[in-house]
Amino acid sequence: MSKVIVLGSSNAIPTKESENTHLAVMGSTCMLLVDLASNPILRLEQAGLDINDLTDVVITHFHPDHVSGLPLLLMDMWLMGRKKPLNIYGLHYTLDRIEGMMGLYNWSEWPDFFPVDFYRLPSSEMTPVLDCPDFKVYASPVHHMIPNIGLRIEFKDSKKAMAYSCDTSPCEEVVRLSDGVDVLLHEATGDEWGHSSAKQAGEIAKKAEVGKLYLIHYSTGKYAQGDLVAEACTAFSGEVALARDFMALEF
Ligand SMILES: [Zn+2]
Repeated sequence: MSKVIVLGSSNAIPTKESENTHLAVMGSTCMLLVDLASNPILRLEQAGLDINDLTDVVITHFHPDHVSGLPLLLMDMWLMGRKKPLNIYGLHYTLDRIEGMMGLYNWSEWPDFFPVDFYRLPSSEMTPVLDCPDFKVYASPVHHMIPNIGLRIEFKDSKKAMAYSCDTSPCEEVVRLSDGVDVLLHEATGDEWGHSSAKQAGEIAKKAEVGKLYLIHYSTGKYAQGDLVAEACTAFSGEVALARDFMALEF
């Protein structure tokens, strides 16, 4: 059975209980991380995941709360003796900057570094990203301050599907990406440039006719605002919940 584990559910300002939004998708033979925050080695250990199972990484966009863990992940895996390749997927805009960032660390001079293969994705809807024995991943551009992608993951055995809006204003691309999915993880930072409110997330869930809506990438701690679930429920009559750190969804 495949699982999606929420490694973080907060917007860019995390708290002790809520790390920046990032996810792990576990199949029997592959493990995908969607974005990387803080210290990935620690986070995966806390989630009970084995770093040696990691095969693929999708970076949605080049904002610090989504990429800041990548240099440390790469360095730590190298120091731990990793030999097998790692695949990293993202838009041209994103991967150009990631390679630039790693260049600043002079990583080409780190001896015996394991192979890292970059796969640059076109900015078009339902771009196939990854096809492993347990699930398939597709990406669509969404509406954020910089180029960004949302994801749809289709699980082969259960025939279930989930979608993740990533950071975005409400947009038809996410409606199409999440069409009829069992679970939609939609951001709820607030009604501001490049983001969505909980109510707008509910409106997208309604249009896409999803099974269940989880709100993610919301303000936490002293910045938390109101009852987000109640707000989303004013627009969507299906089940709504807040995504929480280390929550596991089974598919
Ligand atoms: Zn962002």
